[in-house]
Amino acid sequence: MTNLQPVRGTHDLLPEDHKRHHHVKKLARKTSELYGFDEVATPIFEFTEVFARTLGDTSDIVTKEMYTFETKGGESVTLRPEGTAGVARAFISNGLAQHVPVKAFYTGPMFRHERPQKGRQRQFHQIGVELIGVEGPQADIEVIALGYHILKDLGVLESTTLEINSLGDTQSRAAFRAVLTEYFESHSSSLSADSRNRLAKNPLRILDSKDDGDRKIVAGAPDFAEHLNDVSKGFIDTVQQGLTDLGISYQRNPKLVRGLDYYCHTAFEFTTTELGAQSAVLAGGRYDGLIEQMGGPSTPGVGWAAGIERLSMLAGDPPALDRPISVVPVSADLSGKAQELAQSLRNAGVSVEFSFTGNMKRRLKRADKNNARAALILGEDELKDDKIMLRDLDSGEQEAIPLNTVVETLQRIYS
Ligand code: ATP
Ligand code: MG
Repeated sequence: MTNLQPVRGTHDLLPEDHKRHHHVKKLARKTSELYGFDEVATPIFEFTEVFARTLGDTSDIVTKEMYTFETKGGESVTLRPEGTAGVARAFISNGLAQHVPVKAFYTGPMFRHERPQKGRQRQFHQIGVELIGVEGPQADIEVIALGYHILKDLGVLESTTLEINSLGDTQSRAAFRAVLTEYFESHSSSLSADSRNRLAKNPLRILDSKDDGDRKIVAGAPDFAEHLNDVSKGFIDTVQQGLTDLGISYQRNPKLVRGLDYYCHTAFEFTTTELGAQSAVLAGGRYDGLIEQMGGPSTPGVGWAAGIERLSMLAGDPPALDRPISVVPVSADLSGKAQELAQSLRNAGVSVEFSFTGNMKRRLKRADKNNARAALILGEDELKDDKIMLRDLDSGEQEAIPLNTVVETLQRIYS
């Protein structure tokens, strides 16, 4: 028999889930527009090297989490694990360097092969923004302010903490890398195998390790802030001052590094304690080297992404939509007439649930279940006088009203 289970780590978005997702996307889209970000959509799969080259060969995503397969044409493609690499690729392929700053908002599914648990799926969904082409810290402040604004709109800001850190410029990272390598080398026998592997390639990534043993060693690691040069210090100080001036509170977290290799200067994360081990809600940073590394013109960028599943778990149910009116024919004979009425109401902008089957009791029960505000009951007796019964489903009261005043009456009573 065919296996009808969804693939592990994937989920159907049934209406209730979808409503929550939709609410997150709608608010995020609207707020992004306020900041002048335009929506873009890149393909769900790209040539594997788009991700492999940009995310770095020590990142968890590239080493363990990518869904990579060969096409019939023998090309290696990968389902996108995140949004930035695709947007950067699109920036280059479409020659958008002429149009900087590019301010993009996106949303869609992402794919990572990791252990599924609450708030962690193999197909999950993100909203995200990228601000490409601005070198100064004002860009970092702007995208963090936008993330903050969206979390506030969703009513989840109170459940989150903004953590920020500086990953410095290239020079500072080289200096810190040397110090860090020395420190981790002196503890290498106690590091996890993954982290020993990172030690030679990218010791900074060890700071991001989720292994308990590693975390103990990381706790005593040197502090990046002490190895930043003046340019890097100036940059992060301006970001922090800008956030303070906008009334956005944050905590400096010296251990915060981004899992991806192309980040520099500002790294930030809105975290929560309300989703168990899945603490990251919205995370991002500056990626000045990315576009050049991909083969494009040297172009700075900063952005973030947030998980829609995690956001909607924090946000809970969205406000209810307008309640529909249920149109109920008393008998099957009147179905056609009732459906015509339903259609004319919809043409007038009224949300209508048409009652398809069942006896009167069942139909009214279903109207209740659909959270209908009122039922229009079409019966022979009233129809003879060109009337229809309007029943308020909250109070149970009903009266016969002239058919040709239905729209006006509904608008008068219910809007
Ligand atoms: P985590 O530390 O939880 O693995 P991450 O650092 O891998 O997160 P990012 O790559 O920064 O996450 O992705 C941005 C956001 O996307 C995260 O903050 C989170 O809200 C969401 N996210 C990432 N991976 C998943 C997943 N597998 N399932 C659901 N949401 C996810
Ligand atoms: Mg992860």
